[in-house]
Amino acid sequence: MEDIQLKNISIDRVTPPLFDGKDIIVDVLRCDKIHPVISGNKWFKLRYYLEEAKSLGKKRIVTFGGAWSNHIVATAAACKLYGFRSTGIIRGEEPANYSATLNDARVLGMKLVFISRQDYQHKSIPDNIVTDDCYVINEGGYGIKGAEGAAGMLGFCDPENYTHICCACGTGTMAAGIVRAGGKRKIIAISVLKNNFGAEQSIRNLLPDVKGDFSVAHDYHFGGYAKLTSTLINFMNEFYRLTSIPTDFVYTGKLFYGIHDLARQNHFPAGSRVLVIHCGGLQGNASLNKGTLIF
Ligand SMILES: *Cc1c(COP(=O)(O)O)cnc(C)c1O
Repeated sequence: MEDIQLKNISIDRVTPPLFDGKDIIVDVLRCDKIHPVISGNKWFKLRYYLEEAKSLGKKRIVTFGGAWSNHIVATAAACKLYGFRSTGIIRGEEPANYSATLNDARVLGMKLVFISRQDYQHKSIPDNIVTDDCYVINEGGYGIKGAEGAAGMLGFCDPENYTHICCACGTGTMAAGIVRAGGKRKIIAISVLKNNFGAEQSIRNLLPDVKGDFSVAHDYHFGGYAKLTSTLINFMNEFYRLTSIPTDFVYTGKLFYGIHDLARQNHFPAGSRVLVIHCGGLQGNASLNKGTLIF
């Protein structure tokens, strides 16, 4: 298992023509380059949970997710890397054919336990799963330790250089970390879920002692979580052609589309310096038909 390569993180400037005609600078913080599986924000979100688990002498990590969860496969990989056993509680019946994500998690040594959607919703874990040697991490790494870890992503840039910092938003854990570390910057989180109007509160709940200036954009979900349209795919291909930066269709494609669209609508005043966090997720593209993407 390859180790995490924090030295790979770069800041890439998006050059015209993408934001041509707008007097703004757009930089991309390439946290996607730290690991092929423990994608971008996942390592940052997991690190303090894993540290605590180790200091408590726990041997096994238990966490939750759906069949296409980046968090599940990232946790499986991180556990393999740091010497934990791992169990993934997966939402829904065991499928006849595993998704690429579940297959990867299984190959990485994660034990997969399938529970009904109803039980999953109530987070009722079968009794025999959580034993004394277990450490439980919320779905998506949601929690204050997750946000504190995600705040570390801004340690690879100087936030003072920017007026705006933008990131994708699922559970809002990463966004909370970016708000925490972003100081006076305006933070824009692009929600990848449909009508997830609880996102603002979910983020605020992780910031008991931080004010921060943040907003969540709800118009760029393309039909909902892991849904896509040809407009999204065409944008991702065009974005790659112009920038050589690959994106994924679940998170970062929607993120960059949203930022591009906000710029088009003159959301960013002239002179704005915008940092976009590329938080990984590229392995999710494995579920697309070959040839859909040009990268
Ligand atoms: C998991 C993931 C997210 C969502 O992060 P949250 O902290 O749950 O909001 C965003 N982008 C990528 C690439 C991810 O893998």
